[in-house]
Amino acid sequence: MARAAVAAKPRCLAPRCANPTSETVETFDQLVARVRACTACAAELPLGARPVIQVSPHARLLIASQAPGSKVHASGRPFDDASGDRLRAWMGIDAATFYDARRVATLPMAFCYPGRGAGGDRAPPRGCAARWRESLLAAMPEVRLTLLVGGYAQAHVLGAGALTPRVAAYRAHLPALFPLPHPSWRSQSWMRRNPWFEAEVLPALRAAVAGALG
Ligand code: SF4
Repeated sequence: MARAAVAAKPRCLAPRCANPTSETVETFDQLVARVRACTACAAELPLGARPVIQVSPHARLLIASQAPGSKVHASGRPFDDASGDRLRAWMGIDAATFYDARRVATLPMAFCYPGRGAGGDRAPPRGCAARWRESLLAAMPEVRLTLLVGGYAQAHVLGAGALTPRVAAYRAHLPALFPLPHPSWRSQSWMRRNPWFEAEVLPALRAAVAGALG
């Protein structure tokens, strides 16, 4: 893990940072260690806190996703499930590239498994992105392209809006952002209803990913 100092002053929520005049500069490793030790919303997480992220100060491509599923909670590895297989196929990269943190970072809107709700996994806990996202993004200045995977990531970055027209209008967000559906099993029926995604958007996605990593 890199030991470079975090370039921008991170937003520190630790007790030692309560004094606004105190210096809060910390190394990248220290910031990541604080994230991995976070239990801020553990009381609302059915399996407890287990932050699952993949970060590096050298990452060039960022996957902004939703929240880990139960399988990812168990393995501790981002997108270590069928959704991940689908996302890698969409992106046109293999697992070795996907899990190379020096190239690809993964930051969901919430880092811990939120549990099951009536229609699938519950929404990501809201406080996670507010607590950590800004500091981690500031610590990854080489990111060229961010994939907005699913409605929660798109709402956080782009504001309210419908997913399908946003994906269809992906060109309007390039070169920095690329909105995508979440690659869950539901995406298969969504793809059947929207054949332009496979025909037009996926080739453009693969080109954008190759350009960011190249
Ligand atoms: S979801 Fe985020 S804020 Fe909540 S315990 Fe996990 S890392 Fe901390």
